[in-house]
Amino acid sequence: MANSPPYDILIVGAGAAGLMATTFAAQNADSSNKVAALDGAKIIGAKILVSGGGRCNVTHDVVTPNDFAGSKRNQIAKVLKTFTADDTVTFFADLGVKLKREDTGKLFPTTDKAQTVLNALLKSVNQAGATILNEHRVTKISRTDNDFTLRTPHGDLHTRKLILATGGKSLPKTGSDGLAYGFAISLGHTLTQTTPALVPLVLSDGHWLTRLSGLTADVELAVASSTGKITHRQTGSLLMTHFGLSGPAAMDISRHWIASHNTDPGTQLLINFLPGRTFEQIETELVELTESHGSAGITSILYDYVQRRLAHTLAADGADVDPTTPMAQLSKPQRRAVVKALTALPVPVVRDRGYLFAEVTAGGVPLAEINLATMESRTCPDLYLCGEILDVDGRIGGYNFQWAWASGRLAGMSAAIG
Ligand SMILES: Cc1cc2nc3c(=O)[nH]c(=O)nc-3n(C[C@H](O)[C@H](O)[C@H](O)COP(=O)(O)OP(=O)(O)OC[C@H]3O[C@@H](n4cnc5c(N)ncnc54)[C@H](O)[C@@H]3O)c2cc1C
Repeated sequence: MANSPPYDILIVGAGAAGLMATTFAAQNADSSNKVAALDGAKIIGAKILVSGGGRCNVTHDVVTPNDFAGSKRNQIAKVLKTFTADDTVTFFADLGVKLKREDTGKLFPTTDKAQTVLNALLKSVNQAGATILNEHRVTKISRTDNDFTLRTPHGDLHTRKLILATGGKSLPKTGSDGLAYGFAISLGHTLTQTTPALVPLVLSDGHWLTRLSGLTADVELAVASSTGKITHRQTGSLLMTHFGLSGPAAMDISRHWIASHNTDPGTQLLINFLPGRTFEQIETELVELTESHGSAGITSILYDYVQRRLAHTLAADGADVDPTTPMAQLSKPQRRAVVKALTALPVPVVRDRGYLFAEVTAGGVPLAEINLATMESRTCPDLYLCGEILDVDGRIGGYNFQWAWASGRLAGMSAAIG
């Protein structure tokens, strides 16, 4: 391989964005046999196979820039509009993969198997005439006047155009370990701070909520600054676990809690177990219930508001009130403590669970450094970037793959045509 002929286009990373980039680069290139994707992994597509619980949530029926964070919404919109969720449906249908919409708006293959999606992507690369070289981990990239030189275990490879589709740092055992951020930096780019995103949150050791492991509740979570200002809200299903909080609501809000906590260590996470209802509304109701049901124990009253398993613990541990106390005997501060536990319970998040458990990486190469009509680098001509290496992260629901499809396709096509 050391004396291999130069490639026209090499794509580093054969994940979701890289496979898409490879297909569209080869389809549009003068000579598709001079297009190849390199990946360090032995088996291609590990992350696609574990995605969506093994079913691969390919996209969402409604995708807007507001479903993403990181770079500016108008920048993200420019890329998303080049390849919409409908285009994704058509792209996979043309490859024989039918997608179905679930009630949540998420789209999955009708087979409910991520393998179907991966097979289709590999088929598309194959049909386009490009090659995938697995076990080709790139360890160094240098730029000369006319080409890029990539160091791999099989010798140096040369290419005229280069697409970086190396992902972020989440689930590093799949091969996305962040090494490639260094390539982007060496080619003139900067990085915004990278942190885990869509990641479970760990509570202080032995926190009483961890005793409710396995319980799910529909909640509203809020990130509050140390001054009490609510900076982000998220409704959805929350799962209590042996370590803390998981489920869509916790995962979706995690990047916002982390970003706030990094600059403001006094940041708090608040749980409202009665989404859409306020402290004042519930306090008024409890005052009325005290008049009509004064002899009822507080826990039995809470049964009307939250699940039984939660009611007892919320009174005892969340509000520090004896759960058998009759309503009429609750002091005003005790009643208010119960209302607070129901509607704005502060929980001591000590950390996130890290990249081993994160679905994506927040931060990366800012879109301001990319020509968004082509995905070409503004700092290094003939270099293109796509997917999660960029400073864009979506919420749960198929948005991260939609970003990978759209940005990967655009990078591949532009590298071939430009
Ligand atoms: C458990 C889990 C479930 C998920 N479920 C969903 C879901 O259902 N829907 C959704 O939209 N999103 C989901 N995501 C997020 C989604 O998988 C990612 O956002 C998406 O895969 C990013 O695509 P990418 O191609 O940019 O990066 P990656 O998929 O991370 O691919 C990068 C590739 O580059 C290779 N690579 C990295 N460095 C090098 C190097 N130096 N040399 C050679 N190769 C290299 C890696 O081996 C890897 O194959 C999930 C993520 C996880 C972890």
